[in-house]
Amino acid sequence: MNIAAKPTSIAAEAAAILESLGVDKAAYTNGDLKSFSPITGEQTGSLKTVSASEATAVIDRADAAFRTWRLVPAPKRGELVRLLGEELRAAKADLGRLVSIEAGKIPSEGLGEVQEMIDICDFAVGLSRQLYGLTIATERPGHRMMETWHPLGVIGIISAFNFPVAVWAWNAALALVCGNSVVWKPSEKTPLTALASQAILERAIKRFGDAPEGLAQVLIGDRTVGEVLVDHPKVPLVSATGSTRMGREVGPRLAKRFARAILELGGNNGGIVCPSADLDMALRAIAFGAMGTAGQRCTTLRRLFVHDSVYDQLVPRLKKAYASVSVGNPLDGGALVGPLIDKLAFDAMQEALGEARAHGGTVHGGERVDTGSADAYYVKPALVEMPAHAGPVLEETFAPILYVLKYSDFDAVLADHNAVGAGLSSSIFTLDMREAERFLAADGSDCGIANVNIGTSGAEIGGAFGGEKETGGGRESGSDAWKAYMRRATNTVNYSKSLPLAQGVSFDI
Ligand code: NAD
Repeated sequence: MNIAAKPTSIAAEAAAILESLGVDKAAYTNGDLKSFSPITGEQTGSLKTVSASEATAVIDRADAAFRTWRLVPAPKRGELVRLLGEELRAAKADLGRLVSIEAGKIPSEGLGEVQEMIDICDFAVGLSRQLYGLTIATERPGHRMMETWHPLGVIGIISAFNFPVAVWAWNAALALVCGNSVVWKPSEKTPLTALASQAILERAIKRFGDAPEGLAQVLIGDRTVGEVLVDHPKVPLVSATGSTRMGREVGPRLAKRFARAILELGGNNGGIVCPSADLDMALRAIAFGAMGTAGQRCTTLRRLFVHDSVYDQLVPRLKKAYASVSVGNPLDGGALVGPLIDKLAFDAMQEALGEARAHGGTVHGGERVDTGSADAYYVKPALVEMPAHAGPVLEETFAPILYVLKYSDFDAVLADHNAVGAGLSSSIFTLDMREAERFLAADGSDCGIANVNIGTSGAEIGGAFGGEKETGGGRESGSDAWKAYMRRATNTVNYSKSLPLAQGVSFDI
């Protein structure tokens, strides 16, 4: 951003960033959806939302674009994503700052989110030359069998407020190299960063030159707009990130019309600290995993099981870290914990803490921190010592609450660890190889992500990301997650002069 005078308010700074990224002012002024910054609670924009019929028209345009884009060679499609990566590098500071303004992240996390977008672009560019199918031995002489991966169609992306731009990039970068068009319904709590990301992609599209009109579009609106995407027959795959509640609604609707789903839902992530753990390392990992992003990551550490032989060494140090962590305006640079997204999040946190007390928990922290803005919700992260794995411990509360439990038996703690609905991320701190390997084994952690001697959050894009059970089962990002964005055809070619049937069947006419 190159502005002559320093903006006087957060809203003015957001507007200056949007302007510098080329977002049309009409898109975020005088509309019906108000956006706010959780940092002060001040309004940052009012955006024009789409009606159901407008959303349908957008999807129809995306379908027409898909029919052209699928015929563009994949490495050439990769070139568009390479340009997107370049544009994101150029816009990193501005977009990262806007993420901080709109989602309340501290600057390094705002920038880190944009870095994740750049990383997935790099990954997707390489992938555009590696959309491999297998060649398979056939039982019939003079035949060849292979599989081919084809583009799928319009990919619907529904995203949550807490990773307002990275999740879109994870999906869009892969979908585009796979030959699909994309329609994105961002969170209604973070629409400005969506407009900014879309503008950045449009710059890349312009430089690319001949991408079909409507290849990548954004739908501003609430869940009702998301529902249009979910129900539209021309959307063969919806990748939906958000709460398990949302997934329970979206999953069956997609199944009803046999559409595919990538569901990336809530987490209730656990960590186990074993007797041999490096406690200094564990302490840092736990502090970041549980308090970072004000507890508003899907991978936030929420349940900590500490062996009773090290409980009195670790937990007092953890309490000290909780008592001293800096909470405040993330834009000031000194805070490690920014605001909750809104009052609803604050109320849900207080309710969970009340339930924890009712279940015999001892709550340290959790109170509101006054930063002088009545409409901003900052809290001291809460560490809650629980007598049993019960009550609110079993559910995700999207706020910085860490439930700490003592354990003595490894099998019993593994069973407790897995005894929740969600199955996203997990970690173990141990120097005992048997414990570590058991945690990663078939009868160990039941999560999509299982780590040893690092925390539950902060995944890299090279691995497939997602979780089991009530987390929805979807996988995004690295490894072979791209296969979900394509359709597979098995092809058998007969180059012989006879027609042998498989399984020795004879059918002579
Ligand atoms: P949310 O479920 O309230 O909303 C997420 C998105 O879904 C929004 O865009 C919303 O408009 C849309 N939506 C809601 N109901 C819908 C419906 N019936 N049909 C279509 N769209 C609908 O979630 P949130 O509060 O924005 O985000 C926090 C939640 O997201 C937490 O539970 C967190 O764990 C989860 N999350 C999961 C991942 C993951 O990768 N597993 C990543 C980030 C966040």
